[in-house]
Amino acid sequence: MEFHAVQKETVMRNPAKNMAERSIPSEIRVDPLTGRTARICHFMKLAWEKPAFDDLVKSTAASCPFCDERVTSVTPCFPEEIAPEGRMQSGDMVLFPNIAPYDSLGAVATLGSAHYVPMTSFSIHRLVEAFQLAMRFFRRVKEIGHPEAVYPIINWNYMPPSGSSLIHPHLQVFATSSAPNLMRQELEAAVLYHRRHQRNFWDDLVAHEQETGERYLGTIGRTAWLSAYAPMGVAGDVLAVVEGAACTLDLTDGDLEDIADGLTRAMAAYDAMGIYSFNMNFFTGEPGDRHARFHLLFSPRTFFNQSLGTPDIGALRNLFNETLCMAYPEEINRMLQTHF
Ligand SMILES: [Zn+2]
Repeated sequence: MEFHAVQKETVMRNPAKNMAERSIPSEIRVDPLTGRTARICHFMKLAWEKPAFDDLVKSTAASCPFCDERVTSVTPCFPEEIAPEGRMQSGDMVLFPNIAPYDSLGAVATLGSAHYVPMTSFSIHRLVEAFQLAMRFFRRVKEIGHPEAVYPIINWNYMPPSGSSLIHPHLQVFATSSAPNLMRQELEAAVLYHRRHQRNFWDDLVAHEQETGERYLGTIGRTAWLSAYAPMGVAGDVLAVVEGAACTLDLTDGDLEDIADGLTRAMAAYDAMGIYSFNMNFFTGEPGDRHARFHLLFSPRTFFNQSLGTPDIGALRNLFNETLCMAYPEEINRMLQTHF
């Protein structure tokens, strides 16, 4: 397994220091699976200010479609063959069709009746219950033989900087036969790796990271937690790989609990940096895929300029899909370690 990086250096003269020359290092890392590149730079310190959310929470609650009785009156219902009960429920959580579908089998699941849940206030139990509700949907569409029941995926945009259009916490739950770009590229690359080495890439990655320790966070049950070598996020990514699971549907209730446990730790760690928003995506193969491993990425989202609301994604990422991380993942790993 190769962890390749190209070192770069920028020389500039500083007018505040009598035009003294200084050299600033940066690095271009190559993802060991896909060859995707990620730039590592020293852009700024990983510290942000969490604003007061009181006004935002208050002003959005009255019209929130997921609050009060609205979640079971204004949200759409599934056709009879998918869910005769219309919407699927578990306690105060409701799963219903996504009104803005980007695939045939798209749903949204609320994480309960609370309009705002601070990032550090999600209990393991609550996350497990939400994941179990999503799993019920995945199993249902598989049982009826729906042609899109191939890749069961949960995505989470938490709070507006991550792309969430609502404050009310909710998961994007969908099953699709069309693997999204990065997941497809990973699956294709994992097939080639398996063919070449007769081994599973993800098993080798976890073994390597456990051995070197630089980016390793810990193992909970059969889920290994790592800092990604070539992260997508500006403050690094947390990667979780579940041993022995190829597909989302291979996850046991114990795995869901371990995943929820690790996620609450990641949330607490980034909260300490002043970050209050993130993306989380499931990456899944198909059942029985020997090259695949279920994994997820937790990627904190923040701002390039918080006072202007400048998002942490600019032209480089949006149009080149080239990522920027503002510190070395190994440095970020040390900031996260105390929480694992
Ligand atoms: Zn709400």
